[in-house]
Amino acid sequence: MSETTTTNTTASATTTEALRERALKLDAADPLADRRELFALDDGVYLDGNSLGALPAHVPARVQDVLTRQWGELRIRSWEESGWWTAPERIGDRIAPLVGAAAGQIVVGDSTSVNVFKAVVAAARIAGEGRDEILVDATTFPTDGYIAASAARLTGHRIVPVAPADVPAALGPRAAVVLLNQVDYRSGRLHDLPGLTAAVHAAGAVAVWDLCHSAGALPVGLDEHGVDLAVGCTYKYLNGGPGSPAYLYVAERHQAAFDSPLPGWNSHADPFGMTPDYAPADGSARGRVGTPDIVSMLTLEAALDAWDGVEVDAVRAKSLALTDFFLECVEAYVPAGRVTSVTPAAHAERGSQVALRCDDAESVMRRLIERGVVGDLRRPDVLRFGFTPLYVGFADAERAARVLAEVLAETAGA
Ligand SMILES: *Cc1c(COP(=O)(O)O)cnc(C)c1O
Repeated sequence: MSETTTTNTTASATTTEALRERALKLDAADPLADRRELFALDDGVYLDGNSLGALPAHVPARVQDVLTRQWGELRIRSWEESGWWTAPERIGDRIAPLVGAAAGQIVVGDSTSVNVFKAVVAAARIAGEGRDEILVDATTFPTDGYIAASAARLTGHRIVPVAPADVPAALGPRAAVVLLNQVDYRSGRLHDLPGLTAAVHAAGAVAVWDLCHSAGALPVGLDEHGVDLAVGCTYKYLNGGPGSPAYLYVAERHQAAFDSPLPGWNSHADPFGMTPDYAPADGSARGRVGTPDIVSMLTLEAALDAWDGVEVDAVRAKSLALTDFFLECVEAYVPAGRVTSVTPAAHAERGSQVALRCDDAESVMRRLIERGVVGDLRRPDVLRFGFTPLYVGFADAERAARVLAEVLAETAGA
């Protein structure tokens, strides 16, 4: 952090008073403030919704109905009568407006990891012969890198690890696919999706974006920016529940050429024809594999109700205001030099989390959690605080910074 006005381990009473008052005013003026009561939360401060989103309180009753009535009473009839069969595309269309996609381009199912595999192999096939490089975000969430490496071995491509900012310079005539994370899971840095996608296209390559840390936190604009393929999970900012299915976006212009490496029977044009030969379905259903995990999927569908009537621009505005305010409180409360923000200060480069480097991060996070401020740790020394605008408020941000300062005052540091 830059120099602060405080010299002690704690801010003066007036500073604390002023920040608390500001927090109350900001909460009172927050157009999303009423969303919080939709969620099952306790008195603590939950800043780990970028890892596992909170439970919307109405979801258990809906899941109960899926189990007892849809499965328990209707049984096999539910594939038709309860809309089980069409759930992957129907729920994809509910996620679509949150990531700036028109209907018919997103299918829900499988994990993000599996969808990365489908997307990278299909993108390599779309890119065609004569291009043998798959450029992968060198700072990627590890699973994307592991999967891309295996995909490259299968397809005869070569992996080129590149930091996102260096992608334009690394693109050449051999580039087939570029796989990037829109927001860095560790630092919270937001990468330039429009600019990088344009650079990938100028080089004749195919852009695949991983939206795990951006969907539900900021406007993505998949259609507007001409993204080719994208994947993302639903259990972080979208609150779909532990292990909820991920999604795959295939831009309409690529759907006819989307050649899945996992062409299961659910992606067949006539799945119940049970023919020995494979013929792909049209549209987003082509991204399916096998029987969908209905219970998780319908849990997600119920959870998405929390987004009804929410504009992503409002979410972004609140997210930036929250992270700004948290950083301001940290600067006011925490002695200078005790923590360093690794999250960019510039709004254009910030996702919806604040990551603070701290030498004794592990014990600091343990103590924070003991006091009801739940963030998480990325080893060895990064404290992560996720700000989910649907249910985190400004008083939460102030309290988290204050408790952090108290914990840091008690621990020796290094
Ligand atoms: C959370 C996350 C994943 C998770 O992958 P799963 O297969 O759902 O476990 C993948 N990529 C990124 C960038 C993530 O942040």
